[in-house]
Amino acid sequence: MKKLLLSFFLLSTTYGISQTLLSPSDFLGYELGSEFTRHHQVVDYYKYLAENASDRIKLVEYGKTNERRPLIVAYVSTPENIVDLESIRLEHLKNTTGQGSPTKAIVWLSYNVHGNESVSTEASMQTIYELLTSKSSYLENTVVIMDPCINPDGRDRYVNWYNQFKNTPNNIDPNSKEHHEGWLNGRSNHYMFDLNRDWAWLTQVESQQRIKVFNQWLPHVHVDFHEQGVNNPYYFAPAAEPFHEVVTDFQRDFQITIGKNHAKYFDANGWFYFTKEVFDLLYPSYGDTYPTYNGGIGMTYEQGGSGRAGLGVRTFIGDTLTLHDRIAHHLTTGLSTVEVASKNMEKLNREFKKFYQNKNFKYKSYVLNGDPDKIDAIAALLNSHEIKYGWAKEGTAKGHLYSSGKLGTLKTTPANLVVSTNQVKGTLAQVLMEPNTKLSDSLTYDITAWSLPYAYGLEAIASQSLVESDPSGSREPQPTKGANVSLDTYAYISDWSSMKDARFLTALVKENIRVRFAKNPFWAEGKKFDRGSLIITKGDNRNHKDFVETLSRIAQYNKTILTPTNTGFVEKGNDFGSSYVPMITDTKIAMLSGEPTSTLEFGEIWHFFEQQLHYPLTILDTEYYDEVDLSEYDVLILPNGWYSKFFTENKLQELKDFVSNGGKLIAMEGAIRAINGEHGFAIKEKEIKKDSTENILPYEEAEREDIKNAITGAIFKTKVDQTHPLAYGYGDHYFTLKLSDDAFENLETGTVVYLENANSHIAGFAGSEAKKKITNTLVFGVEEVGKGQVIYMVDNPLFRGFWENGKLFFVNALFMVK
Ligand SMILES: [Zn+2]
Repeated sequence: MKKLLLSFFLLSTTYGISQTLLSPSDFLGYELGSEFTRHHQVVDYYKYLAENASDRIKLVEYGKTNERRPLIVAYVSTPENIVDLESIRLEHLKNTTGQGSPTKAIVWLSYNVHGNESVSTEASMQTIYELLTSKSSYLENTVVIMDPCINPDGRDRYVNWYNQFKNTPNNIDPNSKEHHEGWLNGRSNHYMFDLNRDWAWLTQVESQQRIKVFNQWLPHVHVDFHEQGVNNPYYFAPAAEPFHEVVTDFQRDFQITIGKNHAKYFDANGWFYFTKEVFDLLYPSYGDTYPTYNGGIGMTYEQGGSGRAGLGVRTFIGDTLTLHDRIAHHLTTGLSTVEVASKNMEKLNREFKKFYQNKNFKYKSYVLNGDPDKIDAIAALLNSHEIKYGWAKEGTAKGHLYSSGKLGTLKTTPANLVVSTNQVKGTLAQVLMEPNTKLSDSLTYDITAWSLPYAYGLEAIASQSLVESDPSGSREPQPTKGANVSLDTYAYISDWSSMKDARFLTALVKENIRVRFAKNPFWAEGKKFDRGSLIITKGDNRNHKDFVETLSRIAQYNKTILTPTNTGFVEKGNDFGSSYVPMITDTKIAMLSGEPTSTLEFGEIWHFFEQQLHYPLTILDTEYYDEVDLSEYDVLILPNGWYSKFFTENKLQELKDFVSNGGKLIAMEGAIRAINGEHGFAIKEKEIKKDSTENILPYEEAEREDIKNAITGAIFKTKVDQTHPLAYGYGDHYFTLKLSDDAFENLETGTVVYLENANSHIAGFAGSEAKKKITNTLVFGVEEVGKGQVIYMVDNPLFRGFWENGKLFFVNALFMVK
């Protein structure tokens, strides 16, 4: 760095009042596109620019990744604008309330959300360089915010892997190892989460830290740079149907304006591209939809390449696609975007203001009722999105009742959270809360239902008239947090209804506090406690040297409400000495990873244990699974996967022995198929008879006809056997997010959560044939095998980490089922 600076000063000539800046190639010491640049070098280049063009760049580190890499954004504009940055920002935000007179366009460019779509970050360096030099005129009325890498952990995973396995010189033969990344690829972040599915749910540290900066700016235009298959031409706006109905005409039209400007440059170069296909604007957790629902023009740009392309690869028509080509294309669309924004600054500001004024939604308010822990959890998410809410008054709200899907009423109290759509973030609130998203086309790229009241397990009313609420919160007074734990008390009771309660339990277990749970409801201290309630007795913990201090500390940390009682003789139900009040044991848990498991589901479970439940997990890779003594573990988790080759006869017998001897096996989604009807496991996939009289269809209609058999992430209402330990903490129904039409028969005994009939479909797209197929099938169930159990999870309650109300089933499977 020192040396570079020295040579830089020797080379420097005057450029206006500032000095000549080194291009990425000059700074890095190799031609951009001839190597992949590791993240720390990218950060160094941005720092170099910020130091040497400090009047035109402001660099901010907004956080760190799981692997401690810095997350940065650079604000790029003219010296006048950079000095004025804070007042530009405030003036821009005033526009959301109909005030202010902003005179700048705000463009945000996000690179490399998918780590192995590796061109993006390289392109960002050339783009910022051009903005500071040849294209600086765009900046006179425009502030460009550049995030060179949203996902540094994933990108460095790819770049390091590529550097290890590349041929020298690189080999364009697509069969060579350098084009085959393998199981732990660079697409996702540390926990294998897809950050381009996380903008709305904010389960990952990268998203949580980025959203704060994003909300400080709410850009007019946001671009998410991606890559797709090697043989695909470039994709840019306008996006494909379905569009969410909240997308405005202007937002649609401006995508076309931008697309046409890109096309001009691509046409001049003879480059191929396509628009209006594949990438739709519906699911709210993408880098294009989320900014769109916040008033911007959100777009996905896709270059052909990604983890398959390396420095160069032969395409199917025999051409060579190089990293240089890929950089040139993303550079072109990035600059063209800024150009269009700059030319349309006034229009962007005018329309942005309009977006925030028109809030004439069908539903004016959403009222949420339910478990206070779940209300707290959803309130925390609303806070992150800066969606405002208040607390209801005593009264009645009428509207669409979520539990029935029909018109209904809800008695309201100050414990009910109210979100209204007549607020700055009204559009986003509408998209996240509405009971059923309207689909203009059922062929979509992702899930079609996500309504938060279902995800959080709350009863809700969507009201067409405004429900008054108190923003300052006159919510029912909370009982004193924690409790004065003392040795005089016989026992303490906590309810069992949420992830908060689950974290309280794991914290106790980790500190060797003995905890019991109730298998039946009971009455104590004049209150009813449901199944699963935790009971911590003085007697059990007689030998724990810091019992009082530890329990008190953990209860306070988790804000757990403990009910003290001075007797084990309950008013009704089983006394605390009963065998119906068993102890929760320290549980050793292992999970299978590696080929052929699903990286995404593996990551969801990994993240769940470490970042949500805070409980240790052993990760067993399939490479050495054979050498592991399974009897060391109480629970083995098989994530979704494609196991048919992996589970040989011998391995299935070992699994059977593990369970028969008292082990617990949790088989999720595709893993169920591996043990389907084998070796005495009772689970059976539902067979469906194909109608042989089906019409022969024209080729053109085949794809649309196929979707009759599809479920693209839809919400279904299920029945729950509340008496089963797997269902402790739940009511008599549960809303599940179904991701496919996979269907397994109900178990003879141990069917806990199941779909009764076709009326159970609540929201999202489900094809007519698929609905028939899943009628009367299993969602979650427990089979007793010898001394152990197999827990079947046909749906994934940990999907993308956002289906909050499904998580307790998973915790019950770990600790309550025995
Ligand atoms: Zn991508």
